[in-house]
Amino acid sequence: MNYVKPSAIRELLRLGADPEIISFGGGYPDASLFPLEQLNEVYQRAITEKGRDSLQYTVSNGTPRLREQIARRMNLDGIDCNADNVLVLQGGQQGLDLVSKMVVDRGDIIITESPTFLGALIAFNPYEPRYIDVEMDDDGMKMDDLERVLEQNPEAKLLYTVPDFQNPSGVTMSLERRKRLIELANEYDLIVLEDSPYRELRFSGEPVPPLKSMDTEGRVIFLGSFSKILAPGLRLGWAVASHELIQQLGLLKLAADTQCSTLNMSAVSLYLDTYDIDAHIASIRTAYRTKKDLMLETIRREFPASIRFTEPSGGMFTWLTFPEGFDAGAFMRQKAVPEGKVAYVPGAPFFPVNQRANHARVSYSTQSDAGIVKGIETLARLLKAAI
Ligand code: PMP
Repeated sequence: MNYVKPSAIRELLRLGADPEIISFGGGYPDASLFPLEQLNEVYQRAITEKGRDSLQYTVSNGTPRLREQIARRMNLDGIDCNADNVLVLQGGQQGLDLVSKMVVDRGDIIITESPTFLGALIAFNPYEPRYIDVEMDDDGMKMDDLERVLEQNPEAKLLYTVPDFQNPSGVTMSLERRKRLIELANEYDLIVLEDSPYRELRFSGEPVPPLKSMDTEGRVIFLGSFSKILAPGLRLGWAVASHELIQQLGLLKLAADTQCSTLNMSAVSLYLDTYDIDAHIASIRTAYRTKKDLMLETIRREFPASIRFTEPSGGMFTWLTFPEGFDAGAFMRQKAVPEGKVAYVPGAPFFPVNQRANHARVSYSTQSDAGIVKGIETLARLLKAAI
């Protein structure tokens, strides 16, 4: 429990929940994009047509039909797998817990990006790992820095990456770096945890193949999720990995919670059989692209030039870098929230090793167009006065 402390940003996010405040903080998807009517219909059918099965216990790795459907979608993304390589999870978040439970003993090294997903650190922490972080730039994790880290720490066990539209930075790892990462993972016998819940939310450029599609040694575990493409309240995600690793993770899943909700799995299977999820995802992409364009356009026009920001080609976040010495947490507490009624997530907690105060994660996913413009203009005005 010494490693399970309330996160410092919870308080700040609570401030952001005040309805008067324009919050760029939460990483929630836009609820107006949930396919409510279709989900209503498939939930009805899950009861009326398949009620006895939908309400019964099922296979702990997930219903065979849903695992097949997931495997098929993964095949289309270049990942060679079948239903036996799939474990249905209580959201991708459960995969972070189960993988660290499987792999990490106290003091083992987990290599992460710098910054990395805070929810992953929260999941890993109870297993008492030691973190070593690797520098990033606009092409993702830097491979020369990873190589240096591995030379110095060849006993490292697990490498965690969010290669597509990373939370928090919005950055995507280039193809060349993905190939190099796999070479290094093979050389140093690493398990690679590829966490990619935003992968399908690409709004410009060509998809870069998943690390899992380049894995010839069964060392990559891919985590996907229905949270950002359907709805997070379903709590459904999945892992794809070698048969051996899926069996082990399946045993841990059985011990943790027996299985995911049969009803939810049944409803999502019916949804995938009945509706065109790709058309639905295309509409989400369009909506986020429009919001991203508006936010970046406004940032470019209004912010002081000394503030850098990433240009995401998908997902929900841009990452701000303020001048050295600027404390984004203090600025939010003292200026942005009380004076401007605007919130974001200060960047420091996303660094597993050396926290840097001069960053912020800004999400465009849930704000209206007017909210985006007003919030960014207000922040810009306060920032100009402060910097
Ligand atoms: N990984 C990343 C990078 C995320 O941003 C999130 C959600 N914020 C998750 C995993 C977990 O999502 P879920 O459990 O809803 O699938």
